[in-house]
Amino acid sequence: MIRLVSIFAALLLAAPAAARAVPAHDISVRIDPQERVLEGRDTIRLDSPRPVTLLLSARFRVNSLSVDGRTARVPEPPREALQRIVLRSARRIDIRWSGALVALDRSLDHRDTLTYGAPASGPEGTYLPAGSGWYPAVDGSLERYRFALDLPVGQRGLVAGRLVEEREAGGRYRARFDFPQPSEGIALMAGPYRIEQRRLRTAAGSTVRLRTYFHPEIAELARGYLDSIAGYLDLYERWIGAYPFSEFSVVSSPTPTGFGMPTLTYLGIDVLRLPFIRTTSLGHEVLHNWWGNGVYPDYARGNWAEGLTTFMADYAYREREGDQAATAARLAWLRDYASMPPGDDAPLARFTSRTHGASQVVGYNKAAMVFFMLREAIGASAFDAGVRRFWREQRFRVASWDELRSAFERASGRDLASFFAQWLSRTGAPDLRIANARAVPTITGWRLEVTLAQEAPAYVVSVPLAIQSSGGEITPRVGIGGERDTVALEMPHEPLTVVLDPDFRVFRRLAAAEAPPILRQAMLTGSPMMFALSAESGLQIAAQELAARLFERSGAARSAAPVTLVVGPHADIDEWLAAGGMAQRPPALASGRGSAQVWTVRAGDGRTNVMVSVRDAPSLAALARPLPHYGQQSWIVFEGARAIERGVWPAQPQVWELRPAAR
Ligand SMILES: [Zn+2]
Repeated sequence: MIRLVSIFAALLLAAPAAARAVPAHDISVRIDPQERVLEGRDTIRLDSPRPVTLLLSARFRVNSLSVDGRTARVPEPPREALQRIVLRSARRIDIRWSGALVALDRSLDHRDTLTYGAPASGPEGTYLPAGSGWYPAVDGSLERYRFALDLPVGQRGLVAGRLVEEREAGGRYRARFDFPQPSEGIALMAGPYRIEQRRLRTAAGSTVRLRTYFHPEIAELARGYLDSIAGYLDLYERWIGAYPFSEFSVVSSPTPTGFGMPTLTYLGIDVLRLPFIRTTSLGHEVLHNWWGNGVYPDYARGNWAEGLTTFMADYAYREREGDQAATAARLAWLRDYASMPPGDDAPLARFTSRTHGASQVVGYNKAAMVFFMLREAIGASAFDAGVRRFWREQRFRVASWDELRSAFERASGRDLASFFAQWLSRTGAPDLRIANARAVPTITGWRLEVTLAQEAPAYVVSVPLAIQSSGGEITPRVGIGGERDTVALEMPHEPLTVVLDPDFRVFRRLAAAEAPPILRQAMLTGSPMMFALSAESGLQIAAQELAARLFERSGAARSAAPVTLVVGPHADIDEWLAAGGMAQRPPALASGRGSAQVWTVRAGDGRTNVMVSVRDAPSLAALARPLPHYGQQSWIVFEGARAIERGVWPAQPQVWELRPAAR
């Protein structure tokens, strides 16, 4: 009896989510972007009668509702937000609704689009986000769907899924889509698109339809994007397993946004024009079809998908460029982490999605570094085998960090419980330092003793050292696990210097000299101050605007490194530096190039100054939009809104000199 029960339970767990209670929509939607009107009808089927709550935006009127063939009363909708249509028991729901969409506002930026996710439309573009209540979503459930879209000719659109049919007749564009897998919601995009298409025979032998839906002004970019998508699909099929969908499309948006969904990515026209998008963000979005849209993170227990995607996309591309680029990427992650106020830090297991800069530092960067360290620990072939196993077993299922750990454990034959526990459940990072080192001559050569220290509670880490000796350099790794550990190394030649983790292979809190200030430090502070060194009102206003853009959430009372933004005309800045006895304008910026120069400098009292030196008020006003995008830099020279030069102050690694007197 007990045995039967356990077998039944195992079967239930093994059944794909789709076979259980995922409601199926059959939706038809007609949209007129000129008039901003939407009309829809939907038949929702459930596998058995059960209580259902439908969520629909209050901007729509329900024209008819029937439950299991019987007409149902429609409650009066609230004035705003979502109407909740609560049904005590339903197996089949037929509903019709209609209403006006919000005017598409091209001036919204990505953050606004995320915050005010209302269904918006206009001749330039329509974007109906999942979760905005533009169709009757089943509350608290994944959903699958068939979808028919009807637009005036000249407009084209899509939802995620397989394109079943598409035609233009009678002044209308009609397309039908099918998404049979459980999905996290439906988003719809439309616009005056030109469509380019290519059919790709993939490495795994299936056929994928690649498409671009581009506004006419960027139509000539289509071919390059199609080439890039084909390359990424090939890369990830070979690395992970077969692409799980039958299409992938790149869709342009009139607002400067960037979203990834299953089978497509929706990117702003201006974003698509940037030359580096094809070699960075595009691959990241393609990979989300495996991690995020192919295997769903268990959000309540932490989102692993961003970290794994960052590691296998953004970081992997840097590795392909070479060791130097990969090291620079890891250093940038550690720098971002070092510049984050400790109060913003949180365990990786608690990261769910990106809401501000600080959560990216943990949820994307720290997570990617954890995967990097995991690969270092178990080796690349076990890592890749773990990735493939995880994909094979969890495809279209909800999976947590535990399932990932288990896949890597079985692929490597190692117990990884403590590795994952310390990197996922703890806040913070080890602050490793060399506490002492000494070299003793022996009969066969030299014995080097290195003492490494870290604050309690100690992390268990394998630390790379670079040891310069009279016979060349060696780079051993030493395992430590205490607050103070001494390791001994026998070597044939006299050791001269020891450098701690010179290539930044361990996630750790960088020492001050290892992490010279970058702009992000200022952007994450909770208590910014500002001096404007000019009473001119144009400059004062532009300075306020810049400060508002730069400090994401000013006013928050948090323990943060204090930051002062100093803004003024070139001559006043030089005067201010001289009067305060501070370091002069750095040599990289000395010639006074550009209409504006921005640089970070660590003041004596631990405060970081961000200097903003400008030609005039318009030069300052031009910085408000671009400057927040340069958080990774220590200095930037602008000509108008364009950065013409930039850089990071060099890091000083932790070096221990073994014979300081003799050198
Ligand atoms: Zn992502």
